[in-house]
Amino acid sequence: MSSAISTDVLIVGAGVAGLWLNARLRRQGFSTVLVESASLGGGQSTKSQGIIHGGAKYALHGALSGASEAIADMPRRWREAIAGKGELDLSGVNLLSEAHYLWSPGTIAGNLTSFFASKAVRGRVDQVTGSDLPPALQNPAFKGKVYRLAELVIDTPSLIKRLVELSGDSLLAGHDIEPLYAADKHEPEELTGLRVDGREIHAQRVVLSAGAGNAALLKLMKVEHPTMQRRPLHMVMVKGPTLKPLFAHCLGGGPKPRVTVTTHPAADGQWVWYLGGDISEADGVARDPEAQIAAAKKEMGSLLPWVDFSQAQWATLRIDRAEPAQAGLVRPDNAFLFSKKSLMVGWPTKLALAPDFADRVLEKLARDGVHPTPQPKLVGLPKPPMAIPAWDELLP
Ligand code: FAD
Repeated sequence: MSSAISTDVLIVGAGVAGLWLNARLRRQGFSTVLVESASLGGGQSTKSQGIIHGGAKYALHGALSGASEAIADMPRRWREAIAGKGELDLSGVNLLSEAHYLWSPGTIAGNLTSFFASKAVRGRVDQVTGSDLPPALQNPAFKGKVYRLAELVIDTPSLIKRLVELSGDSLLAGHDIEPLYAADKHEPEELTGLRVDGREIHAQRVVLSAGAGNAALLKLMKVEHPTMQRRPLHMVMVKGPTLKPLFAHCLGGGPKPRVTVTTHPAADGQWVWYLGGDISEADGVARDPEAQIAAAKKEMGSLLPWVDFSQAQWATLRIDRAEPAQAGLVRPDNAFLFSKKSLMVGWPTKLALAPDFADRVLEKLARDGVHPTPQPKLVGLPKPPMAIPAWDELLP
């Protein structure tokens, strides 16, 4: 039997939420153990589009809502961290783009112009033209308008790599998890830690940040609330030697982008366009992969007819976003954290909101008077593997 461990905070799930929280806690002197059952970042985090939203997209609903305000500070916090001057030292994380763009194809451009000039979005959104356009849109055939949003796009595999470096000796590969209770009481209120693959880990607090895995963990611990929702997506990837970088929401008539394109480096040096937005939602989810690729080819052909896809390779990826349940499957606005005595559970709801998730846990620890205690170095723990980027797996 492996020897028992005592730690301040035991975290389950090494996506961006668990890894960011772990790094923040360690920086403040807390001892931590972070358990991962599959690969580091291999859930939603490295499959995300890496956009550090600042809320401008939400302004499309017509006015800045609470959501826009809550998220507005995220680009600054990430920018400072990536510059090595923020709450974490994320120097070494690759920025794929300094900005994300809103792009309205010819027909709807007129309506948007007055909206973008309005007070609601002034200072957040600037129109760009000519040589300032994203490289993929610099073509004489391009018609429409492009607006630059002050939102970063980050390379998620390099983010995960850096957060893993900051996790020191705390990572533990573990599959079989059972709750440990005080005095055999078997009540969620009496949780004192977890048994992971037979090893007892005692902790002042247990944080579940296991993304889609939280639902099963909550069931295991007989915690009925909060409940989780999954939002299924059917993403499309295309890799080709002629593709140029593009980071843009292409607008349709409504508040949701018709398609959101981000560009990622493949291991062989080519660019991969990763397509989300409306095309990956309801109708896209209902299509089989072949039909989804055909729909994406048609969409790209009509929006960007000058782009040569003749040598491109296409693939699709089904992945669910995991979030706290909301009425009507709407998108939650903030990181979400629920706590019950020594148990905390949550979802950042966006990669961009990982700092907000960590803030909420740290605030709760401070309110509960949980302080850092020394922990001997953890040696010999089995380590989880790094995730392989989805485009390198699917488009080798
Ligand atoms: P995850 O990354 O899913 O990590 C959870 C981890 O827990 C996984 O590693 C999993 O293996 C592990 N785990 C599960 N069960 C257990 C268990 N029982 N024991 C141990 N470990 C377990 N957000 C943005 O801000 N910008 C974007 O551009 C963006 N694009 C997206 C595009 C797509 C296609 C998707 C799906 C999401 C996107 N998101 C985006 C949302 C963002 O990816 C997620 O909100 C965020 O990554 C969630 O992080 P997480 O750490 O909570 O979950």
